Amino acid sequence: MDAQKTTDIIIIGGGVMGASTAYHLTTRGLKNIMLLEKEDFFGLGATGRCAGGVRYQFATEINIRLSIESLPMLERFHNEIGQEVDYRKCGYIFLLTHPDEVVQFKRNVDLQNQLGARTEWLSGDEIRNLLPMMHLDDVLAGSLNPRDGLVDPNSVVMGYINAAQRSGVKALTSTLVTGVIIKSGRVIGVNTGDQVIYAPVVVDATGPWSSLTGQMAGVDIPVTPLRRQWLTTTPLPELPPDFPFVIDFAQSLYFHREGPGLLTGMSNSDEKPGYSQNIDSDWELAHMEAAISRMPLLGHAGLASHLAGLYEVTPDAHPIFGKTPVEGYYIVTGFSGHGFMHGPIAGKLMTEIIIDGRSTTVDVSMLDLARFKENRLIHEYNVV
Ligand SMILES: Cc1cc2nc3c(=O)[nH]c(=O)nc-3n(C[C@H](O)[C@H](O)[C@H](O)COP(=O)(O)OP(=O)(O)OC[C@H]3O[C@@H](n4cnc5c(N)ncnc54)[C@H](O)[C@@H]3O)c2cc1C
Repeated sequence: MDAQKTTDIIIIGGGVMGASTAYHLTTRGLKNIMLLEKEDFFGLGATGRCAGGVRYQFATEINIRLSIESLPMLERFHNEIGQEVDYRKCGYIFLLTHPDEVVQFKRNVDLQNQLGARTEWLSGDEIRNLLPMMHLDDVLAGSLNPRDGLVDPNSVVMGYINAAQRSGVKALTSTLVTGVIIKSGRVIGVNTGDQVIYAPVVVDATGPWSSLTGQMAGVDIPVTPLRRQWLTTTPLPELPPDFPFVIDFAQSLYFHREGPGLLTGMSNSDEKPGYSQNIDSDWELAHMEAAISRMPLLGHAGLASHLAGLYEVTPDAHPIFGKTPVEGYYIVTGFSGHGFMHGPIAGKLMTEIIIDGRSTTVDVSMLDLARFKENRLIHEYNVV
């Protein structure tokens, strides 16, 4: 051991959850904070590999409420934090091809609108008129929220980290947490190879790796890493500048503009849990076949880039916030494929939980870790 340090709060993980939590703690006057990231740069985990989508369209009240708080924080980001995040309100259109989806989505849209999300219902013909470059004969109906869109993930992470550092947070890269030190049922610090850092509060914000981090603390965190991948194409001049984020719900197949080309992804429902972030070429072929049959102009596009990343999936596709059986050891994880958009509010809520003992901006007490043992799961239908 060549060093020992002491701080008030350690945050493990420099993705959107860790960065937002660090920043929001400083807004409440806490400065003696260390954020530890194992990679050489922040935001190289799920956050840096995400598709950047932000939406109000969810099926459960809690997810809609999280969006209603979080998306305006992204709109205000530049004013509040001084970092441009390129919020493009291109709208999300969900395409529905099965009668049971239509029934469920009608309910979702009603709920979204009761809560103030202002989502529109579209007939099959209205969707075909909006998207003439796509093959949509089988589309029965759909939903559109014009305020859904895209935001740049790296700008959000670095905006929060830079602001937190300006307030005194020590944010370290290349710092792998290898152990969590517990004494008499409470956390007292972490090991990082050659160092021990002592703190009475440790926040596990390690996303897809959070069950591994939890094991170091003896806490069972039911988060499964599941590979997801997408690709971008060479320029497609035929694509209108206002092309929306389109999701073929039944196939979990999505498209949105990325620069002069298109970004498209499709979730493999047979993907096995694991930490591999290599591209699955067989799946890429299956994905491209499905994408071209929806969007024939992709047939003459080239591949510009592709990558795979990990969703951090919980048994009920909802996140986990707050305390654990180890006193002082908190978690914010398990956003199951839509955590980037909820990162801003999640950091604020974690700050409320740590400082005030409970979250008030949105009450997320039902999203506690204990719900899995107590059988209080919540189901989300709109998982892509
Ligand atoms: C392909 C793909 C597309 C997606 N698309 C969207 C989308 O359109 N919209 C959306 O809202 N969400 C999307 N998501 C989900 C979103 O990316 C995640 O929910 C979110 O980024 C999770 O953030 P996080 O901070 O919890 O995790 P991460 O960003 O993974 O951060 C965790 C960090 O912890 C670090 N770490 C892990 N273990 C240790 C350790 N022992 N010591 C130190 N550091 C450690 C990791 O290196 C990592 O940087 C997508 C995800 C993927 C994979």
